[in-house]
Amino acid sequence: EARNVSKHFTVRGAAGRARVVRAVEDASVALRPGGVLALVGESGSGKTTLARLLARFHPPTEGEILLRGEPLRRGRRAARAYHAEVQLIFQDPFGSLNPLHRVRYTLDRTLRLHEPGLDRAGRRRRVVELLERVSLSPAAEVAEKFPHELSGGQRQRVVIARALAVRPKVLLGDEPISMLDVSIRLDMLNLLHRLRADEGLALLYITHDIASARYLCDDIAVMYAGRMVESGPRERLIGAPQHPYTKLLVESSPDPERGAAGRDELFGDADQLGEPPSLIDPPDGCRFHPRCPFAMAECRTQSPPRTELGDGHWTHCWLHQKGRAGELAGTTFAS
Ligand code: SF4
Repeated sequence: EARNVSKHFTVRGAAGRARVVRAVEDASVALRPGGVLALVGESGSGKTTLARLLARFHPPTEGEILLRGEPLRRGRRAARAYHAEVQLIFQDPFGSLNPLHRVRYTLDRTLRLHEPGLDRAGRRRRVVELLERVSLSPAAEVAEKFPHELSGGQRQRVVIARALAVRPKVLLGDEPISMLDVSIRLDMLNLLHRLRADEGLALLYITHDIASARYLCDDIAVMYAGRMVESGPRERLIGAPQHPYTKLLVESSPDPERGAAGRDELFGDADQLGEPPSLIDPPDGCRFHPRCPFAMAECRTQSPPRTELGDGHWTHCWLHQKGRAGELAGTTFAS
């Protein structure tokens, strides 16, 4: 669980001036066993930073990360114990694997670290079993290959097998299918779906693609410019988005039933939809206000408070505080 976490980074500009990047502000997410939560947003929305906070790669500037309700302990031993339960899968499967090592060596090394009691024969069996679990066959043959001998999809399966080698309880997938061929993305989503069902894993699926989030996830949380703007059960959130930005994302997603175009086409129309703001100097108030057709005076000066909508669905938007939420349903961004 991330509870009210913020992450600020200090960067130096060309003139050597220090500037603060407010990558994540006051974000909260909770994962549960066997559940899949999608974290959806454009590039620069803060979703990868939030995943890295959950993976314990950085400490939060404010707020805390908890595991089973307990704050994380400091120190290398505690970090190692945490990483035995929480694993992060990166976007680029090639960059995640050492090109000099065969698949067997990569998995064996992880097993040696995390299961020191396992002898050599036991590790050989586990390598085959892990490769079979991610549907790489014939497993014994795949184990002898180098990363460059595998396709992108096969490499990502090896990365997942390595994550499973530590018997984690939580998988954090940072755009795990975005660099794969379109033709194998569905296979990969099905694999993740099966793993959560078979292993009871809690899965955080990070994506900019709301259609794949809808396919895989129970709940969806939407981030914009470092802040969470809406979260709720998949069908409620997609069927009736309660934040203008979520509505924009949903309408920009390809939908054959609606006859809608894809996001690339729509997001290319910057005059209509604008660009996300810089996180170095984000807008005051609601960070979406420069792009929002509903923006009112409060939106420009005050962050919208959270409005609970029932059934685990909530949003941060002044429309709900001002009794104007009904206007959302009657507006279409992508027309
Ligand atoms: Fe638009 Fe205001 Fe809601 Fe932000 S708070 S999304 S600017 S209406």
